[in-house]
Amino acid sequence: MTEHNWAGNLTYSATSVAEPTTRDELAGLVRAASAIRVLGSRHSFNRIADTDGLLVSTAALPAHVDIDAERRVARVAGGMRYGDVARPLHAEGWALGNLASLPHISVAGAIATGTHGSGDRNRSLAGAVAGLEILTADGGIRMLRRSDPGFAGAVVSLGALGVVLDVELEIVPAFDVAQTVFERVRWDDVLADLAAVTSLGYSVSLFTTWRDPDVVDQVWVKARAGDAAAPQHVLGGGAASAPRHPLPGVPADSCTEQGGVAGPWLDRLAHFRLEFTPSQGEELQSEYFVARDDAPAAIRALRPLAARIAPLLLVSEVRTIAADDLWLSGAYGRDTVGLHFTWRRDQAAVEALLPEIEAALSPFDPRPHWGKVYTLPAAAIRERYPRWADAAALRAELDPRGVFRNTFLRDLGL
Ligand SMILES: Cc1cc2nc3c(=O)[nH]c(=O)nc-3n(C[C@H](O)[C@H](O)[C@H](O)COP(=O)(O)OP(=O)(O)OC[C@H]3O[C@@H](n4cnc5c(N)ncnc54)[C@H](O)[C@@H]3O)c2cc1C
Repeated sequence: MTEHNWAGNLTYSATSVAEPTTRDELAGLVRAASAIRVLGSRHSFNRIADTDGLLVSTAALPAHVDIDAERRVARVAGGMRYGDVARPLHAEGWALGNLASLPHISVAGAIATGTHGSGDRNRSLAGAVAGLEILTADGGIRMLRRSDPGFAGAVVSLGALGVVLDVELEIVPAFDVAQTVFERVRWDDVLADLAAVTSLGYSVSLFTTWRDPDVVDQVWVKARAGDAAAPQHVLGGGAASAPRHPLPGVPADSCTEQGGVAGPWLDRLAHFRLEFTPSQGEELQSEYFVARDDAPAAIRALRPLAARIAPLLLVSEVRTIAADDLWLSGAYGRDTVGLHFTWRRDQAAVEALLPEIEAALSPFDPRPHWGKVYTLPAAAIRERYPRWADAAALRAELDPRGVFRNTFLRDLGL
């Protein structure tokens, strides 16, 4: 049986996926392996999760969400999906500070790649990790919390350090969010003061197809109850008259509720509902992170490429992410803007265009999303991570046999 990722653009080199149901069984597989990678919910678009040895999933290990109200953390099984973590948390009156665009991704897989949602003051999902329990290559277990040496290198791990068993996530009291979509705003007006737009809500996303290079097609504003309500319009763009999907012409049934109706955080922070297939399915994604101060100039640098981008594109999304101190995080050391592209699934054409996009962004030292498609050379990537050498040393310390290394990591020099 051949195994594919979610998007179907790649077949894993391993021919089977082991799904141990106990920690002992998993530890046995790890100890016996010469090459092994952990598979999350398969939502990455590149070979980061791949191996020609054994693929192992933690999805069949017992699921649990244990709330420590005093420490304000929930200890959850890393193989669980965010959507499945959110329900029991909400039932007990708690929330996660943020979600990505979809609740279908596994916790351990998302944090391993620095997956993020949006919000000027919201860190990536990895930034909300308070502790990690890792099964290392020798079959031993390490618990790392924020004050421990190596913690900052272990959260956005690229899957290089071992199997993440449990994750401690920061929690906050449950809150309501109202989501409003505004339409057709001019880029020139947005770029004149990008921060004024991204600060309009708790979480703000700008969507554009680049078909009209002068226009941002949609601005999604997720306003937290108790904060200022969303405005009546955004730079002349009015609120949509009906629910909208980010992809033009696609029905909005799979999207979380819009129209400014307040509701629980877990039903608004993600763009897509857990019970539907998110986005479109047959697609590829790329994303580059730049410093927030550079974002207007970086977007201006992309605009001349609009006519080259648009034919291959489903939609682009611009989001903000707060700085963190996680060594391999796209937001390491700088408040960040993510410039995202959801592409049609034409890998060759996308990979032919990416170098042009990367060249246009190069003055801004873009860091690629670890789980998406990029063509930047490893040397350029490494120099954009000041703690790269420390991350490499941590990998060698926790996995001296290199059991968790794969071609993706070797090519990066990790
Ligand atoms: C429709 C769609 C929407 C998306 N939206 C967003 C978004 O809003 N924001 C964003 O930033 N990204 C987004 N992504 C990208 C996605 O979040 C990342 O690729 C993420 O890593 C996927 O998690 P996963 O569980 O599928 O991991 P996988 O793709 O299965 O694996 C990713 C990495 O995690 C490692 N890993 C998985 N589980 C473990 C474990 N238990 N222990 C150690 N390592 C592990 C793997 O080895 C691999 O290195 C989206 C992807 C899709 C398909």
